[in-house]
Amino acid sequence: MTLKSIAQEIRSCTRCELHKGRKLAVPGEGPATATVMLIGEAPGREEDLTGRPFVGVSGKLLDGVLREAGLKRDDLFITSVVKCRPPRNRRPGKTEQNTCMEAHTRRQIEMIRPRIICLLGGVASKALLGIERIAETRGKIIRKEEGAFFVTYHPAAARRNPKWHQSFLKDMKKLRRLVEG
Ligand code: URA
Repeated sequence: MTLKSIAQEIRSCTRCELHKGRKLAVPGEGPATATVMLIGEAPGREEDLTGRPFVGVSGKLLDGVLREAGLKRDDLFITSVVKCRPPRNRRPGKTEQNTCMEAHTRRQIEMIRPRIICLLGGVASKALLGIERIAETRGKIIRKEEGAFFVTYHPAAARRNPKWHQSFLKDMKKLRRLVEG
């Protein structure tokens, strides 16, 4: 098994209903040697059309924050909890999340074994850590058997709320310090 073979499986996956509405699945991208992995919620419209993660409006915000924080996008492995776009960008359901996590996302984590797994937003934080409230857990390392996690806001949330945008930037700067340290 390699990251490439996992990506191939994702592209032809029919394990849950989401495959029916997708144009392209979005396995994620970045080096197999990445020390940091970013995990979002689900592909949106632009991601579905291009097959690449975080290339729409949230992606633009993410790119800006990464740049300002001094993190290189190309050094990170970027993916989402589910790999196919939910209809009308609705939140992926529990079964869809669990199916995709077990089949794909957890295997990507096992292959990459990043030093830090950064969870973007409520869906990823709940799916991987069972965390309900980001405000209380964000910006700290949380150690688990699967690795070290770091919770922060989703770029889409940061786009809606300037306070969350500030916190998101602060967290990403902290993440850079943690990676360097
Ligand atoms: N939002 C996500 O959570 N993931 C993407 O790939 C794009 C937007």
